[in-house]
Amino acid sequence: MRQTPFGEMFVFDAHTHFFDLSFYENLGRMKGINASAVDIAERLGWDEAPDKSVEAANAWVQEMDAKGVDRMVSMHTIPSNIFQAAEGIHSAAGRLTGYAAMTPNMEGAPNLLDRLVTEFGFRGLALFPSVFRFSMQDEATLGLLDVAHQHGLNIFVHCGAIKIGFRTKLGLPNVFDCTFTPLEMQPICAACPNANFVFPHMGSGYFRELLMLADMVPNIYTDTSGMGGWGKYLDGNPAPHQVLKHAVEVMGAERILFGSDSSFFPRGWRVDTFVAQVDVFQEAGLNDEQVAQILGRNLERMIRVENQSDAPSAPDA
Ligand SMILES: [Zn+2]
Repeated sequence: MRQTPFGEMFVFDAHTHFFDLSFYENLGRMKGINASAVDIAERLGWDEAPDKSVEAANAWVQEMDAKGVDRMVSMHTIPSNIFQAAEGIHSAAGRLTGYAAMTPNMEGAPNLLDRLVTEFGFRGLALFPSVFRFSMQDEATLGLLDVAHQHGLNIFVHCGAIKIGFRTKLGLPNVFDCTFTPLEMQPICAACPNANFVFPHMGSGYFRELLMLADMVPNIYTDTSGMGGWGKYLDGNPAPHQVLKHAVEVMGAERILFGSDSSFFPRGWRVDTFVAQVDVFQEAGLNDEQVAQILGRNLERMIRVENQSDAPSAPDA
């Protein structure tokens, strides 16, 4: 729980990345880098990754305890060595909720997702079609989405503009396809009513498209991470609180999730981002109930896991 001007709030962060040793190693193996995990840490100015992913998970739980964060989504971000990260995330089940970053062309992708859900308690699928260059309409993608639909997962889909700071820092080209918009997902989202689709960063530049989609299809969500960055693409260059207010008017506060986009140590959980977002909530004129929904209650409602009864929960939820 964290103290805010709206009262003490249950915090369930919908957008964080889990960078364990496998992430550092995979990054080091990328074309044009050829670096060890230790070199990667040094070049990025990050703490070295602990040997075991369970230790990486422990570091997050300690950080959450220190900063008053009840629960967080842990996105495994590079689609490989998935079980290594899953072990760590699963060890903190109740505090960390796993989302599997996958590409539909991974071998046995549907079965892999099914195992992550049933054996490791994962509750989400994270898709980056613009980064890994696949179509959301391919047969393989639809097969994967069907598994997510059957398990009632959250499906995180990054559309639109994307900048990845660590890639830039390592000198990797950010060659992405940013043309894919939330609107193209309409028939797919409508066909998977058990799943919840989360388009991060207020649609990452496709704000209008996100609102149109959310107006037509109920299982559409967004998160607040980076919400200040997208006004420049919109008519009149609205301020972050105007963007948020508009989103609340069209989608309702019950479909907006707080996200900090935290990822590496020593930065840890981004208190500064949390404080800045709470300021925006005030400027937008949100009430206590709306803020409680955004900061954690919505996501708690969306993550239904029977074997996680020991997970901290919102007091009045
Ligand atoms: Zn992110």
